[in-house]
Amino acid sequence: MPADKELLYNDYKATMRKIADVKYATAVLQWDQETYLPPKGAHFRGQQLATLSEIAHNMFTNEKLGKLLNELISKDLDAKQKKNVQLSLEEYNKLIRFSSDFVRKMSEITSASFHAWLEARKQNNFSVFEPALSALVGLKREEANILGYDAHPYNALINEFEKGATVAMADKIFADVTKPLLILLDEVKQKPFAEDRFLHQTFPKQQQWEWGIYLAKQLGFDFEAGRQDISEHPFTINFSSQDVRITTRIDEDDFKNMTWSTIHEVGHALYEQSLPADEYGLPSGEYASLSIHESQSRIWENCIGRGHEFWQFYFPKLQQYFPHQFNDVSVQQFMQAINKVQPSLIRTDADELTYHFHVMIRYELEKNLMEGSLQVKDIPVYWNEQYKNLLGVDVPDDKQGCLQDVHWSHGSFGYFPTYSLGSFYAAQFWEKAQSEIPELSSKIALQGDTGLLLHWLRSSIHIRGKYYSSEELCTLVTGKQLDSKVFVDYLRQKLNYL
Ligand SMILES: [Zn+2]
Repeated sequence: MPADKELLYNDYKATMRKIADVKYATAVLQWDQETYLPPKGAHFRGQQLATLSEIAHNMFTNEKLGKLLNELISKDLDAKQKKNVQLSLEEYNKLIRFSSDFVRKMSEITSASFHAWLEARKQNNFSVFEPALSALVGLKREEANILGYDAHPYNALINEFEKGATVAMADKIFADVTKPLLILLDEVKQKPFAEDRFLHQTFPKQQQWEWGIYLAKQLGFDFEAGRQDISEHPFTINFSSQDVRITTRIDEDDFKNMTWSTIHEVGHALYEQSLPADEYGLPSGEYASLSIHESQSRIWENCIGRGHEFWQFYFPKLQQYFPHQFNDVSVQQFMQAINKVQPSLIRTDADELTYHFHVMIRYELEKNLMEGSLQVKDIPVYWNEQYKNLLGVDVPDDKQGCLQDVHWSHGSFGYFPTYSLGSFYAAQFWEKAQSEIPELSSKIALQGDTGLLLHWLRSSIHIRGKYYSSEELCTLVTGKQLDSKVFVDYLRQKLNYL
């Protein structure tokens, strides 16, 4: 590459890496805010986060970087370099529309909302969260206007999480999948009721913690490049591909909570730990999209972690960890219990089928909020009505209703649809992995070895960073576009097998 091109590209790389340094330093403070921060530290932490967000914003929107990107885009770069510059330029052109005042205000209001949400949960009262959430919704609508959109303000926000996604596309996907899922739910209701009381005995914290660490190691989580901690809401966050943090929560009366949230977050973490470290700070070192990220957590949580092959090997191990609780349980009973389909209140505890109804309710609610047809104060009533209509359950209080998810307090409107898309992508990747690796099932069942799947995911998805969009990646890896029918077929087959 001629010298000037090379110099310019190196200059770009160095700038992007410095911006990443500031962003990941911000992420460390966010991680700490949700794990170890003492309550009195909340105020100044909010200020520290706002200052760092502002610094990162000013670095990215610096005119010098804009000039550099515009110059580089016309050069004859190789394909990966070109893609990096193109994606960074898109980001630059988006960010320069926001003033640093707006960025600071968003960060401050978001931190305040998070603490208001925690307090509202403590008091089990949505009205404690309402003022902060109203301010945040106002700001998100302003954000949609600044970003610009066609057809619907919510389009601008979904696009932030899933590039290219629109209300029209999500409406269609949800409409296509609703009927088959309702039919499947009816079929399940005809079957005998699965007994799952043994999952609600007492499971001591320390034993659960050790079991979770054992599982994470078995699945390939690298504890030299990450760690696990406890938080009220499980999440994964990374400060580079060499430092990926996961959190879990432990409920002594519910075995399911910790085990599958750990497997889920390990799925996210395996993706982050496999991203190319030498591409730090560049789009080529980042995940493809949120729905692809979620596909990685869901493939491990559901296709592997709720699959019969996995428990054929791991159930005897589980019995060693919890002999009193599981010695009288057969692996067949265990499989039926952990895959029990039953409409419920809490999204993160939902079975693989009714999970998507939880997502659809949030999606419709957010759309209505953004277009102004629903007011923040009316959220609890709307929520409870929808849970009755779609899931047939009565919501007893706000904590088990509209206060259950952390997302809105983070300002994440437009995020929920990626959860369903992720599950649908996961089923499609799983189908393909099984057909390309014939020995996969027997390796898992006989040796508990999931390494072949991890290797396949790494080489077909992880190492590609952000080079492809979700749709492009799906077509490249599976040979076809996203098709929710694959998910419905996967689920029917699994539920029939039980
Ligand atoms: Zn997830």
